[in-house]
Amino acid sequence: MNRISVMKPWLGTAETDAVAEVIASGWVAQGPRTVAFEEAFAAHQQVDYAVATSSCTTALQLALLVAGVKAGDDVVVPSFSFVATANAPTYVGARPVFADVDELTGNVTAQTVRAVLTEKTTAIIVVDQGGMPLDLQPLRALCDELGLVLIEDAACGAGSTYRDAPVGAGADVSAWSFHPRKLLTTGEGGMLTTNNVQWAKRARQLREHSMDVSAAERHNSTLAPAESYKEVGYNFRMTDLQAALGLVQLDKLDTMVARRRFLASRYQHAFANVPGLRCVTDPEYGTSNFQSFWIELGPQFGVDREGLLERLAEDGISARRGIMASHLQPAYAGHSGIVAPLPVTEHLTANTLILPLYHQLEEHEQDRVITSVLSNVLAATGGE
Ligand SMILES: *Cc1c(COP(=O)(O)O)cnc(C)c1O
Repeated sequence: MNRISVMKPWLGTAETDAVAEVIASGWVAQGPRTVAFEEAFAAHQQVDYAVATSSCTTALQLALLVAGVKAGDDVVVPSFSFVATANAPTYVGARPVFADVDELTGNVTAQTVRAVLTEKTTAIIVVDQGGMPLDLQPLRALCDELGLVLIEDAACGAGSTYRDAPVGAGADVSAWSFHPRKLLTTGEGGMLTTNNVQWAKRARQLREHSMDVSAAERHNSTLAPAESYKEVGYNFRMTDLQAALGLVQLDKLDTMVARRRFLASRYQHAFANVPGLRCVTDPEYGTSNFQSFWIELGPQFGVDREGLLERLAEDGISARRGIMASHLQPAYAGHSGIVAPLPVTEHLTANTLILPLYHQLEEHEQDRVITSVLSNVLAATGGE
C-alpha cells in the first residue's frame, strides 16, 4: 500500500527544460527570467507591479518597510497563521498584535481587527488562510477610515478569487509564497505586488542591497556605471533558476486550481451530512484554490483530531494538524501583543486537520482517504 502524502508539488519535464536553459545561458542569478516572471505574475494577478523575492517572509518584510511601518508601531495580524505572518512586523521593530478569526473561513474580519486596534496601530496584515479568500471590502473600509495600511499575506492565495478578481489585488501591498507547500512553486521564493509605483521601486532596490543600479543593468553594460547605496538594504533576490521554474508553474496554475477544486468537491460530497464533521467551503464572496483542505471535528464525530490523525497514519495517509496559532508558540509566550482572548483561533487550531490534496492525487487514492476518515461512521452504519 503506497503512502499518500498531504501535499506534492506538480513538477515535470517542462520545469526541467526551463531550468536547464537557464543553466546553459550562463546567467543563473536574478536577471531576465526574473523580470519575465514578475511581468507574467503581475498580469495574472491583475496588479501593476510585481517584485520577486527570496520568500514570502522577505516579501512581507519589504511590504512593511515600503509602507513606512517603523519601530514602535503596532501591526495587527492573525495568530491563526504560519508564524512568518507574526514574525514580519517583529523584523522591522514593530509589535505584532493578534486578532481572532472567523470560524467558517479562518480569516480575520473587520470586527476582529477593530477589537484589537491600539493608538499605535499603523498597518494590518490579513491572510487568505489556506487559500480561503478573506472578506476584503469591510477591512478596506476600516483601513481607509483610520488611515491604516492594508497588507495582504496571500502566501497561499495564488489562484483564489475575491468578488471575481484574483485575491491580493485590493490590498495596498500583497506578499506571495512559492514554497512547495503552496500551489505554484519555485523551490523557495516569493513576490511582492502593489499598484504603488514608488513602493514597487523602493522594494526592488531594498531587495538588492539598495543599489541604485541593478546587477543586471551593470552586467549588460560594458563600462559598468558606478552604483550607490542610499540606505541599508538586503539580499532578498530570487534567482533566474527559480524564476524559470515559476514561469512554467504559472502557466499550470489555472489547471492546478481546477483539479484541486474538483478534488475538494469530492471530499465535500463524501463528508456532507456526517455529524460532527465540517469541511472548509467557499464563502459567498469568492472561491478558494484549496491550498489546504481542512476539516473541523466536533464531539459528535466520535473520534477527536489526534485520534483521526493516528488512524490515517495507520492507513498510510499523511494528514496534518490544522493551521497553527502563533500566540501559543514559545516564541510568543507572554508576548505583549496578546491583547484580547482568541477563542476561535484556539478552537480551530485544536480541532482541525488538513487532508491530502494535490494535483496528482488520484481518485482511488482520495477514496482511500475518505474511507479512512469515515471508518467509524461506516462501521456504525454497517458499512453503508
Ligand atoms: C507559507 C506561508 C508564509 C511563508 O512563506 P515563505 O515563502 O516560506 O516565506 C507566510 N504566510 C503564510 C500565511 C504562509 O502560509
